[in-house]
Amino acid sequence: MADACIIDGKKFSAELQEDIKQRTNILKKEHKIIPGLATVLVGEDPASEVYIKNKEKRITEVGMVSYGKRLPKDISEKDLLAVIGTLNKNPDINGILVQLPLPHQIFEKNIIASINAHKDVDGFHPLNVGALSNGNEGLVPCTPRGCMILIDSVCRDLTSKTAVIVGRSNIVGKPLAQLLLRANCTVTVAHSHTKDLPDLCRSADILIAAAGQPEMIKGDWIKPKAIVIDVGINRKKTQNGTNRLVGDVDFEKALKVAEAITPVPGGVGPMTIACLLENTLIACCLQNGVKVPDA
Ligand code: NDP
Repeated sequence: MADACIIDGKKFSAELQEDIKQRTNILKKEHKIIPGLATVLVGEDPASEVYIKNKEKRITEVGMVSYGKRLPKDISEKDLLAVIGTLNKNPDINGILVQLPLPHQIFEKNIIASINAHKDVDGFHPLNVGALSNGNEGLVPCTPRGCMILIDSVCRDLTSKTAVIVGRSNIVGKPLAQLLLRANCTVTVAHSHTKDLPDLCRSADILIAAAGQPEMIKGDWIKPKAIVIDVGINRKKTQNGTNRLVGDVDFEKALKVAEAITPVPGGVGPMTIACLLENTLIACCLQNGVKVPDA
């Protein structure tokens, strides 16, 4: 059997980013509006610093304005809520992104709920979560949206497909289940208490791995010709002592069985930021009462 097609997330992300750049330009020319995104980082976690700098760079690359906010790691929840309140009121800021995780003294759910739902470009606010499950319009979480674009690139019609998602987090597994349901899949969400996970995975036409467990999903867990989307990002020590990024799927083995598969790195990861830019554009248009420019 021929090897699976490797779904190139970098390529799709670059295409989406270019598309957003053009649409942002149209918004500027026709309506004199420039989308703005506030990125809030609490503390100095090196990984979070890298993520946020990357997001800020991409925001400016598409012609939007980035408002970076760096806050001390010992900030109180009350003070952080006050910062969010100010950003909520600022009409130049159309999107607010609070980099997670937050320090232990802050209750994440309170912060997420305090963001104006129309500026919630991560799609984590309860109103956006509810809209997604009701089938209403709202801002959709970026990683699940990116997964759907990648799946669509290899399979246009998902009707009647069996989808299995390994992982039930609020940011990946649960919202992705809603999007796949909308696309008429039959969806099962697995987690750490699921029995017979290998068998369940073998039933999947579309298998999404979002457990954060390095190479947990073996080649013989995959149904021949399945579409495999690997969301996991894990560091694995190599024999020479360096770190290498791996997903939740044993990629080399899966390549021999699947129809199409995303690599790690270079699969789902790059799509997440591109979808954040898209959400910022959508949020900006909604707040200004203008139609989102066509691609
Ligand atoms: P969480 O830790 O929040 O959730 C992990 C989920 O996987 C939980 O539901 C957990 O079950 C389940 N799980 C863990 N171990 C097993 C197991 N052995 N068998 C079955 N289920 C298991 O992770 P996230 O959703 O935040 O992230 C998942 C992965 O995706 C991580 O590697 C993360 O780095 C990556 N990620 C990548 C992104 C990207 O842009 N590419 C964005 C976001 C995340 P239970 O609920 O029972 O504990």
